[in-house]
Amino acid sequence: MKLTILGCYSATPRINTNPTSQVLNIRNHLFLIDCGEGTQIQLRRHRVKFSRIRHIFISHLHGDHYFGLVGLISTFMLLGREADLHIYGPKGIKEIILLQLKLGKSWLNYPLFFHEIESKDPQFIFEDEKVTVQTIPLKHRIYTNGFLFKEKKGERKLNLAAVQKAGIDISYYRKIKKGFDVKNENEELISNKELTFEPDIPKSYAYCSDTAFHPDCISQIKNVTTLYHESTFLNEHGHMCDSTGHSTAVHAASIAKKASVGKLILGHYSTRYSSLDLFKSEAESIFENVELAKDGKTFLI
Ligand SMILES: [Zn+2]
Repeated sequence: MKLTILGCYSATPRINTNPTSQVLNIRNHLFLIDCGEGTQIQLRRHRVKFSRIRHIFISHLHGDHYFGLVGLISTFMLLGREADLHIYGPKGIKEIILLQLKLGKSWLNYPLFFHEIESKDPQFIFEDEKVTVQTIPLKHRIYTNGFLFKEKKGERKLNLAAVQKAGIDISYYRKIKKGFDVKNENEELISNKELTFEPDIPKSYAYCSDTAFHPDCISQIKNVTTLYHESTFLNEHGHMCDSTGHSTAVHAASIAKKASVGKLILGHYSTRYSSLDLFKSEAESIFENVELAKDGKTFLI
């Protein structure tokens, strides 16, 4: 799994900082998470192939998380896209986007599907044979969901040397990977354990932005491989968290610690700060494995 940060700042786009958007590469899907203004330029800058994006997840309807969406939808049209596009986001997103397209008489040449979310409980919103995506209800000024992306447990791995040594026909390989015992050329039953290795441990990524300190989400994100949690403020502006529905780096770190996550990535910084160093050190006073998101940076998960 690979995460590329396209933008990780709050509020307004500036010359060197971009509002929120990320691309998650997971089991051959390219999921776009939030789509702040300028996202399509960031996609080009970081050479993300537009045509591979088929699913876009929008956390909430504050502009710094979706003002780039109608532009991207429109560019897909100009590029002659034909593939389906699925958009997951809060109820109302369909109305906003369709109104803009309708008044501009911009009829799309590809199928656009909206999956509107209004539940206050976690919901499965995407599933295929390799991946699931669930909402993570968050606590913000308006209705907001984070997203939990999980790999499913894969097939067992073939121990080719053992399989060949046991004299097993190639036509049984698929069955072996699914965990079955099989017979060799001498009709002897060979245990699956002798022929395979354990599958890779499934990985998971939780995206939590925007939110005030919200311990209710801890049970849902327990033990995730990587957590991205917003940290709009440093401690010195912690008094602003309640009125704005945001978190400090320390809040993010205590969620990470209580949820025993593998790694914490901080982001959604207020543009008032000229240096990000203090975000890391304040978070590290609570939780040790902290990294700072940076526009254009890629993390392996
Ligand atoms: Zn917001």
